[in-house]
Amino acid sequence: MKLVLIGAPAAGKGTQARKLIARYGLAYISTGDMLREEVAKKSELGLNVKSVMASGGLVSDEMIIAIVKERIKEDDCKNGFILDGFPRTVVQAKKLDELIGNIDKAIYINAPDEVMLERITARETCPKCGASYNKIAIPSKVAGICDVCGEKLEQRKDDTLEAGKARLKTFHDQSEPLVEYYNAQGYLFEVDGLKGADNIFNDIAGELGERA
Ligand SMILES: [Zn+2]
Repeated sequence: MKLVLIGAPAAGKGTQARKLIARYGLAYISTGDMLREEVAKKSELGLNVKSVMASGGLVSDEMIIAIVKERIKEDDCKNGFILDGFPRTVVQAKKLDELIGNIDKAIYINAPDEVMLERITARETCPKCGASYNKIAIPSKVAGICDVCGEKLEQRKDDTLEAGKARLKTFHDQSEPLVEYYNAQGYLFEVDGLKGADNIFNDIAGELGERA
C-alpha cells in the first residue's frame, strides 16, 4: 500500500503515520526528518538545505525526488510506505506517479490555520536527547526542561511564529492544488484534523479497510 499524507505543519501527520505503520506494516518516509538528518550530519546536501528550512522555505524538487527515489528502494518499503512531506506540489506528485505508478490513497488531514499556528509555536525539543514536547498537548513536567535528561528545551527555528506563518502560507499555496489533483484522480480521503488522534485514525482505517 502506497500512501501520501497531506496536512499543514502540526496537523498530526506524524501521529497518524505511527498508527498506520503499526496497523499495516508500512515504511515511514518523512522527507522533513531525512533532510533534518542531513543538516545534523552537516553533509553537503544538509548545508544547502539548512538556510532554506530556517526561513520556512522549501527545498528544490530535484533534491527531494532524488532522496525519495533512493529511499523507496530499501527493503522496508516492500510492503508499501507512507510518504510524509512529499509530494508537496502537483509537479512533485506527477514525478511520484512516474516513479511508482499510482498511489493507493492520499490522506488529507484538514485543520484551521489558527489552531495549527498555536500547535507549531508550542513545540519544543531537547537538543541533547531529541525528546519532543508541546507546551499545549504534551508539556514537559517542568516548563522548559527535558523530562528525560534535564537539558533546557529549545524551539526549532522553523517553529517560531514568523516561520510558522510562512510555512502555513507555503502549505496553502502549494498543497491546495495537490489536494485538488488527488481529488480529481479519486485518491483523496479528507479527514477532520480537530477530532482527536484516535478518531482521525479510526476514520482513516475505515477507509483503508483490512488491505495489507
Ligand atoms: Zn533530553
